[in-house]
Amino acid sequence: MAQAGTIHTVRGPVEPAALGRTLAHEHIFCDFYRITGNLNHLLNDEELAVEELGALVRAGGTGLVEVTTTDFGRDPGRLRRVAERTGLHIVMGTGWYRQPYYPESIDRTPTEALARQMIAELTQGVDGTGIRAGIIGEIGAHGSFLTAQEERVLRAAARAQRATGAALTTHASMYPVGTAQLAILQEEGVDPSRVIIGHCDTYLDREYHLTVLRAGAYVQFDTVGRVHMNPDERRADALIALLRAGWLERLLLSSDRCHRSDMHAFGGVGYDVVFTRFFGMLRERGVSQAELDIMTIENPRRVLAW
Ligand SMILES: [Zn+2]
Repeated sequence: MAQAGTIHTVRGPVEPAALGRTLAHEHIFCDFYRITGNLNHLLNDEELAVEELGALVRAGGTGLVEVTTTDFGRDPGRLRRVAERTGLHIVMGTGWYRQPYYPESIDRTPTEALARQMIAELTQGVDGTGIRAGIIGEIGAHGSFLTAQEERVLRAAARAQRATGAALTTHASMYPVGTAQLAILQEEGVDPSRVIIGHCDTYLDREYHLTVLRAGAYVQFDTVGRVHMNPDERRADALIALLRAGWLERLLLSSDRCHRSDMHAFGGVGYDVVFTRFFGMLRERGVSQAELDIMTIENPRRVLAW
């Protein structure tokens, strides 16, 4: 069935049907090191990226959403080169991540101007490169609440969402703060079916997930392989409970690779972990290939098209 809208990648527009198997929340180049001081939190090696993404391609991956925003190392030119070298469809993010990373100028910039910058990156491209963002986010809150600045950025992101129709993807880590994000987005008039609440698998509470789903937004299990936050077995069981409750079409998967230690070269499980080890775990628990395809092919192409 033909689908409305286009998916905007760093190499240009792609028909939804051509996207293929896609990870919905990843990082190829990112710099958390600037704030954390931990060298493990820096990805800035293009050769390493191409090598590591090769494993993803060999595992059947064809698309990836790169949710690094301007304030922690987004690099449009390098993303386009990596897309060309690997053949992957890479959808790039726009916006700001969370308060510790924000530029000082956030406080001096009106909400409307923040929105306008995101709209320009989505519709015209970044800084004259012609490389367009294809999604808003990841827009974050890192505690059990949003700071005043984080609320401001989220409201600006909401306005950019309404102006463009692009999906809006969030960072809601370790707390059920996705419900607070959703409430603000709904207050701004955003259609929840254009919202992806991220890192839901860092807070494995069924009622939290159901609250997000009943509101009409996507629940994203995007830290697969990050076993210090949750063992993948618990992640799989929680995901399947939602799937069996009828929410298959609102579930997205990814692995949020953002540390050097996530990479195969450093002993990690790599970008392919969702399609290899985690798929295996889901199959063992009775999930069908058709269901895996809906979560990793159909849902991404539906939400990414605008
Ligand atoms: Zn995140």
